[in-house]
Amino acid sequence: MNLSALENKRVAIWGMGREGRTSLAFLKQHFPDQNFIIINRDPVDTEETFISENEMLAHLDEIDIVIKSPGISYYHNHVSKLIEAGVTVTSATNIWFSLPKAVTVIAITGSNGKSTTSALTHHILTQLGKNAELGGNIGTPLLSLPLDAQYYVVELSSYQTCDMTGVPDIAMLLNLYPEHIQWHKSHAQYYQDKCNLLRRGAYINIVNHNDPPTRDIAERSISFNNEEAIHFKNSSMMDGDTVIGTIDGFPLLGDHNLENLSAALTICKQLNLDLEKCLEAAKSYPGLPHRLQIFGPHKGHMFVNDSISTDPEATIAALNALKDKNVTLIVGGEDREQNYSELAKAIESTGTKSICAYETGPRLFDMIKSNDKYRAETLEAAVIKAKEITEEGGYILLSPAAPSYDAFKDFEERGNLFMTYATA
Ligand code: ADP
Repeated sequence: MNLSALENKRVAIWGMGREGRTSLAFLKQHFPDQNFIIINRDPVDTEETFISENEMLAHLDEIDIVIKSPGISYYHNHVSKLIEAGVTVTSATNIWFSLPKAVTVIAITGSNGKSTTSALTHHILTQLGKNAELGGNIGTPLLSLPLDAQYYVVELSSYQTCDMTGVPDIAMLLNLYPEHIQWHKSHAQYYQDKCNLLRRGAYINIVNHNDPPTRDIAERSISFNNEEAIHFKNSSMMDGDTVIGTIDGFPLLGDHNLENLSAALTICKQLNLDLEKCLEAAKSYPGLPHRLQIFGPHKGHMFVNDSISTDPEATIAALNALKDKNVTLIVGGEDREQNYSELAKAIESTGTKSICAYETGPRLFDMIKSNDKYRAETLEAAVIKAKEITEEGGYILLSPAAPSYDAFKDFEERGNLFMTYATA
């Protein structure tokens, strides 16, 4: 969807979250005299024409193009009604990709590790003196980025890859786990929608050799975490048989983060950068909040905020990262029919004590057979219990393995409250 195709058309922006507001500001800047239509569930204070989401189907003949926000499912029945009525449905991501830029665009998706790999890649590029921008699902809308960068590192969620028409230079799929069933309607559709990124015709597709569903769609791709490519072995980062350097000093915990580092270095290799320098640059990466964020000691305990964990695979990764420690896990959140059998096994094999809370708590509680396990109603009660049962020097880990929306505004609120209760 080229920007020029929006000129003098009746354009509606559906969804007024951060991305929708940015899209409006961007369009107003380019077409100051044009009036736009805002569609939203709740009323919005705006100088544009406002249509409530409930009433939008009565206004189909007043709209040519809808820019849908990623939070609204492409499988929402209003979307098919719009398409049937001849309305073009597009996204801010598609508009951004169509903007002319003679630069390198790196698009990263996957079930887990998108933000870490994107931010890490961006960090390495900037440490090497490159003019690089970071945006997309990570929280900075693409249409708010300056247009003069040399490299763009773009994190894309499945909500953004689903109907993506743009073509990045490098496309990366980190891994695939069953997730987001409410938006995509089925796990099979979720996999399809994520893999759409690899069908865009990027110059290079990169996939994870260690992740079977990803590897299996690896036609015409190069991989990482592969003995013949970039991977980690013992305490070294390797490029095939060649040692790039030691991992000593890399600040992130866990093998999964070394996979993310392998992914970032694979991108750097495709950009013909000096891998030794890139690895050194990775060592000053400051990390992102709510992702295995360690703090303490506080009254004899260490705390780890992994509130971003919305699926069992992320919590298994967290338990593996802390496997040498004495860990009490606070787990549970919104139920999205995730399968907890592997998580229950990981809890048992690592000897982790668990405090199960919120919607999924009882389900997991019943699956844990051999370890200490407790139930809690609230996060605050769970933290109090964790302090009581964790010995001195032990780690109290919040890694819910489920989304936060059953009880919190978002994972940030859940993580911030955990940190408040931890230090209370
Ligand atoms: P995303 O942006 O895809 O949600 P993040 O980097 O924010 O990814 O990490 C989300 C969660 O997934 C965290 O709990 C983190 O510890 C875990 N995680 C990160 N990378 C991986 C990986 N490669 N494999 C499994 N889990 C991971």
